[in-house]
Amino acid sequence: PPAIRKISEEHDKVFVTGCLEPKTDTPRAKAAFVVLARNKELDGVIQSIKSIERHFNRWYHYPYVFLNDGEFNETFKAVVTNYTSAPCEFGVVGPDMWGYPDWIDHKVAKEGIAKQGDAAVMYGGLESYHAMCRFYSGFFYKHPLLAKYEWYWRLEPEIKYFCDITYDPFLKMIEHNKTYGFTIAVKELRETVPNIFRYASAYKRLNNITSQGLWEMFVEPKPEKAKPADLPEDALPDEVTRNDPNRNTPIEIDPEAMEGEKYNMCHFWSNFEIARLSWFRSKEYNDFFEMMDRSGGFWMERWGDAPIHSLAAGALLAPRDIHYFRDFGYRHTTIQHCPANAPARQLPREPFLETTTTDERKRLEEDQYWDQFDPPKENGVGCRCR
Ligand code: GDP
Ligand code: MN
Repeated sequence: PPAIRKISEEHDKVFVTGCLEPKTDTPRAKAAFVVLARNKELDGVIQSIKSIERHFNRWYHYPYVFLNDGEFNETFKAVVTNYTSAPCEFGVVGPDMWGYPDWIDHKVAKEGIAKQGDAAVMYGGLESYHAMCRFYSGFFYKHPLLAKYEWYWRLEPEIKYFCDITYDPFLKMIEHNKTYGFTIAVKELRETVPNIFRYASAYKRLNNITSQGLWEMFVEPKPEKAKPADLPEDALPDEVTRNDPNRNTPIEIDPEAMEGEKYNMCHFWSNFEIARLSWFRSKEYNDFFEMMDRSGGFWMERWGDAPIHSLAAGALLAPRDIHYFRDFGYRHTTIQHCPANAPARQLPREPFLETTTTDERKRLEEDQYWDQFDPPKENGVGCRCR
C-alpha cells in the first residue's frame, strides 16, 4: 500500500544493504526472542529456532524466553535448549494475563465466542486464541521474565527466515531511534474486527491525540465522489445523500463514516516484530489497551494483537519511529516477504539433518546443501538469500 511506500521512502531506510562480516564482539542490546507456544508445537518451534539460529543467532546468541499458559514439559525444554547455544528461559503465563478478566461475564463471553464459531470467523470459536490475542496485546511485556529486557523479537512456531542477518537489528533500532519494526503488512479479515476502529478512533479523540502521520496508514481513502456544483466543497458524502430530495429509501448512517474515517484493515503482521518494550510499557499504550479491552472486543469480536499493535502505533507513533525490515526474508504459513534478491519461488524441502547440537561445521554443510538448489543471491538489499 502507498503508506508502506511512505514509510520506506520518506522516513525510513534499510539499515544495511547486502552482507557484513557479523560483528560478534560488539555489546549486546538488552533483548530477547519471545516465543509463546504450547508443548504440542515443539516441532514448529524447532523449525523456527533452526532458522533464526542459522541466519542470525549463531553469531549473536540472543537469549530466548519461552512462554506458555501451561507448564512446558521436560521434553520441550530439553529439546529446545539443544538447538541453540543461547540461554533459554521458560515461563508460565498466569491467569492474571490469560483468559477472562473478572469484570467480564463469562457466560456472555462464551456465547459471543460460540457465535463467532458458528459464523466461521477465523479462530473466532477458539477461546484460547482470543486469550492469546489479548495476552499479546496487553500483557506479554509485563511478564516477569521480560522485566530485564528493553527490546524483544517475536518468534513464532513454523516460521522461516531465508536471508542471513549479518548485523544486530536491536543496535540498529537504537542507533536510528526506532520503536517498532515489521517485515510484512497485510489486510485484516474484516469480520474479526468489526468495531475495532471505532474504539481506536475514540481513544484518539478522547485523549486529544493528533496524528503524527502514521494514523493515515490505517485510514481508508475517501472515495472520490462527484459533488453537485452548488454544494459546499467540504460537505460530507452522507450529507449529500441526506439532502437528496429524490431519495426515498431510508438512509443508513455508518457510524464510522460519521466520524469521517474508516479502517482500511491494514496492519503490521505481528508474528514478526522487533520492538522497544518501553513503548508497550508506556502509560499511553496501556491506556489504549485498557480502553480497547474494556470494550469487550477481545471476546465479543476476535481482535488480533496485530491490529491492536498497529492502531496503537498509528495513534501514538510517527512514521519515523517505524522500521520496515525490507532486507529480512521471512515466511509464516502462506505469506512471505522477499527482499529484492531473495528467491521468489518455493524452496526445496529442507534436508533432514540430525542437528542436535549447534555445531558450526554442521551448519556450513547445511548451507552447502541448500546452495545446490538455490545459490545465494548477493546483489540486493538482503544478504545471502536462499
Ligand atoms: P496464527 O499464526 O494466527 O495462525 O496463530 P498461531 O496458532 O500460530 O498462534 C499465534 C502464537 O500464539 C503462536 O506462537 C502460538 O504458539 C501461540 N498460541 C496460540 N494459542 C496458544 C495457546 O492456547 N497457548 C499457548 N501457550 N500459545 C498459544
Ligand atoms: Mn502462527
